[in-house]
Amino acid sequence: MYDAIIVGAGPGGSTAAHLLARKGLSALTLDRATFPRDKICGDACGGKSMTVLRRLGLERAVHDAGSVGSWGVTFSGPRGDVVEIPFRKALGGAFAPGYVLARERLDALLFDAAVAAGARIVTGASVTGLVRDGAAVRGVRWTDADGRSHEDRARVVVGADGAYSIVARELGMGQLDPRHYVAAVRAYYEGVTGFNALDHIELHFVEETLPGYFWIFPMAEGRANVGLGMLSAAIKRKDARLKDLLERVVNHERFAHRFAGARRLGPVKGWGLPVGSKPRRMAGDGWMLVGDAASLIDPFTGEGIGNAMVSGFNAAECIARCAAESDFSPAALAAYERETLRVVRDELRLSHTLQRMSRSRFLLDLVIGKAARSPALAADISAMFDDMDERRRLLSPAFYWRALTA
Ligand SMILES: Cc1cc2nc3c(=O)[nH]c(=O)nc-3n(C[C@H](O)[C@H](O)[C@H](O)COP(=O)(O)OP(=O)(O)OC[C@H]3O[C@@H](n4cnc5c(N)ncnc54)[C@H](O)[C@@H]3O)c2cc1C
Repeated sequence: MYDAIIVGAGPGGSTAAHLLARKGLSALTLDRATFPRDKICGDACGGKSMTVLRRLGLERAVHDAGSVGSWGVTFSGPRGDVVEIPFRKALGGAFAPGYVLARERLDALLFDAAVAAGARIVTGASVTGLVRDGAAVRGVRWTDADGRSHEDRARVVVGADGAYSIVARELGMGQLDPRHYVAAVRAYYEGVTGFNALDHIELHFVEETLPGYFWIFPMAEGRANVGLGMLSAAIKRKDARLKDLLERVVNHERFAHRFAGARRLGPVKGWGLPVGSKPRRMAGDGWMLVGDAASLIDPFTGEGIGNAMVSGFNAAECIARCAAESDFSPAALAAYERETLRVVRDELRLSHTLQRMSRSRFLLDLVIGKAARSPALAADISAMFDDMDERRRLLSPAFYWRALTA
C-alpha cells in the first residue's frame, strides 16, 4: 500500500513525485513512455512554472539546459499591425520571467530531478484501469514493458496522465466537449529569421486562424517552434485541416520572407488541449487529477505547463498533510481542489472571456493596432502580464474606450 500512485510523469506528475519524495512519503509513479520523450507542445513556459521551478531549486538547471529566455511577447493582429511588449518588470533580472525549452529536455530534467530526490518512477508502465471499491478508487492496474500485468494499491491515485487521461475517463470525466477543447499542431524549423533581439515569443492573429492563433517561438541553436491552435467547435464549423492551415500561414505574405531560408525539421504533429474554461472536478474518494487530466490549460494562451506544475505541487502538499493527519477522506483531499482553484480560477475565467473576445477581428485590430502606435497602451498591456488586477481591466469597457481614443 503506497501513500500515492501517480499516473504520468509529465510536468504535473514529476512535480508531485519530486515533492512527495522530498517529504519522505511512499509513492509509485508510472509512465507508459521512457524518458527522454517528446510531448507535442509550443515549449513555452511562463511565470507559474518559474515559481514552481524556483521552489524545487531547478531554475538554474532549466536556464543551463539550453533554454531561451522569453523577455517579452510580440502580437500581430488580423490587419497586420505588430506590437512588441517587453516584460518590463523583469528586464535586468538574472532569469527571464519565461523560457522556451524543448519538452523532450524540460520533461527529462523534471523526471531526473524527481528520481534524484528519491522518487520511484517506473517507465514503460501503461496504466490500464483503476481498482475500485464502489465509487472509491483504491489503486491501479498496469502493464509493464514486458507485458506483465500488475495491480497496486494506494491511499490516493493521482491522475497526471495528460489530455487523454485514462484516470479521468474511468471516473466518467473524459468526454471531449468541442467548446472547451482546442486542437493544435506544431512543427520545428531551423533558419527562421526576423526575431526580436530580446527573443520575444510571438502570437499572431491571422484571419485564417481565427478564432485561434499562429505562434513562432525562438529556441536555442537557431531553431523555432512553430504552430497554431483553434477551438475544436470552430474547426468543425470551418471544416479546417490544421496541418494544411499551418502550411498556408507559413507561406502567408506576412511571414513568407521569414521562412524563405528555413527548413522544417520533421513532420507537423498534432495533439489536444483540454482547456480550463470548464475545469473538471479535481478530487474525490481516493483520487486527484492534475494538469491536463484536470483540464487546466489556459483557454486564451494555451499554456498548460505552469498549471500542471502548480496542481502537481499542490496535490503533493495536500497528500503530505493527509498522511501526517492519517486522513485521506474525500473532505481532506478536497482541500487540494480548493487550493488549486484559488490560484488558477480567476485567471482561467478571465482567459475564457478573452478567448471569446478574440473571435472579434474588430477588437483584435483595435487593441493591437492602437498599442502598436501608443507606447502608453503598450506599457499598460505589459503590466497585465505580471498583475491579475491590471489584466482584469481587459474586461472593462473603459479599457476599450481608452484604446479607441489613444
Ligand atoms: C500543440 C500544443 C502546444 C502547446 N503549447 C504550450 C506552450 O507553449 N506552453 C504551455 O505551457 N503549454 C502548452 N501546451 C499544453 C501543455 O503541453 C500541457 O498543458 C502539458 O503538457 C500538461 O502537462 P501534464 O503533466 O498534465 O501532462 P503531459 O505532459 O501530457 O504528461 C502526461 C504523461 O502521462 C503519461 N501517460 C498517459 N497515459 C498514460 C497511461 N495510461 N499510463 C501511464 N502513463 C500515461 C504520458 O506518457 C505522459 O508522460 C500545448 C499543447 C499542445 C497540444
